[in-house]
Amino acid sequence: MDKEITIIVVVEHDQSGIKPVTYELLNAAKKLAGSGKIIALYFTDTEEADELALTHYGADEVRVCIHPDYHQYIHETYEAGLLSEIEKAQPDILLMPASNSGKELSAAIATRLEVALATDCIDLQLSEDGEVTIKRPVFAGKAYSLCKLSGPKPYLITLRPNIFRGEGADETRTGEIVKEKISLPDFLNPGLVREVGAELDVTEARIIVSGGLGMQGPENFKLLEDLAEVLGAAVAASRPVVDNGWQEYSHQVGQTGRTVSPDLYIACGISGAVQHLAGMSSSRCIVAINSDPNAAIFSVADYGIVGDALEIVPLLTQEFKRILEG
Ligand SMILES: Cc1cc2nc3c(=O)[nH]c(=O)nc-3n(C[C@H](O)[C@H](O)[C@H](O)COP(=O)(O)OP(=O)(O)OC[C@H]3O[C@@H](n4cnc5c(N)ncnc54)[C@H](O)[C@@H]3O)c2cc1C
Repeated sequence: MDKEITIIVVVEHDQSGIKPVTYELLNAAKKLAGSGKIIALYFTDTEEADELALTHYGADEVRVCIHPDYHQYIHETYEAGLLSEIEKAQPDILLMPASNSGKELSAAIATRLEVALATDCIDLQLSEDGEVTIKRPVFAGKAYSLCKLSGPKPYLITLRPNIFRGEGADETRTGEIVKEKISLPDFLNPGLVREVGAELDVTEARIIVSGGLGMQGPENFKLLEDLAEVLGAAVAASRPVVDNGWQEYSHQVGQTGRTVSPDLYIACGISGAVQHLAGMSSSRCIVAINSDPNAAIFSVADYGIVGDALEIVPLLTQEFKRILEG
């Protein structure tokens, strides 16, 4: 390659700090960058941002862009800030998580700049002659698509969370930190401000406890919340559970919901329809609890428990609590 590449990683964070998915983006960036440059772009409202960890995970430069409107993700403010930083840094590649905000922001930037966008990628390669190839699941996870990106740069790529786990932080590593108070246009009508709760985002959770219609009613999701609390897990659901109003749409896993790849997915009273499997079959370990021994979910499960989820889930909660507290 005649030119070293520059990769921008957009830092995702909330009130509790930098989200782990950001470190996964840095791992992926390291894989691509070679001797090129990795810039972590951190939009925040505070000068006390915890940016040092970003250098430990591979950022050569951290640009901390400070503005009061960056107290949380708002589409318009992030888009304005990102467009201006792209103009300055002229990156070859921009990495964002395939999270709600990453999906929204990448689509907006790709449209504005009329550049290529590859979403929900699970692998990336950079060839000797500078061509970027991505791998992403298609047809509800039944096949993979390998695409070579072309056209004007930067190439925008969103990465599926929980895939690009690396060796962890290297605290001896250093990088340049640039902090700047930036100005933004006055947004008369900034878009949706998302409620930020204490709940774990299902797309990023390492453990998910998920419920289907077999949970029999919304009141029984308390059993799943209890188990999730003990395991530090997020609670998810199948589509009919969401359609019935037992859980919010943000918890839905499947073809028309979230795609997740946790270490452990515990499916409780879920039949295992293809549209549900499309969102969770790449989980590292699947445990299914179902009263029907012929339920399709058992065909993808690593461990299956045939029985009544309403009886089994509290037993699991009790047992995990005993083991984890012990
Ligand atoms: C275009 C399209 C998109 C879709 N997108 C999605 C999607 O994103 N996500 C999704 O989930 N679905 C999606 N669906 C719906 C999907 O086809 C299934 O209808 C849905 O996944 C079934 O949900 P379920 O497993 O909770 O319910 P059911 O199919 O009714 O299964 C309930 C299961 O619980 C078991 N059960 C009953 N009682 C108990 C008990 N006491 N203890 C243990 N087990 C028990 C039963 O044996 C059964 O297997 C989509 C469908 C279409 C057509």
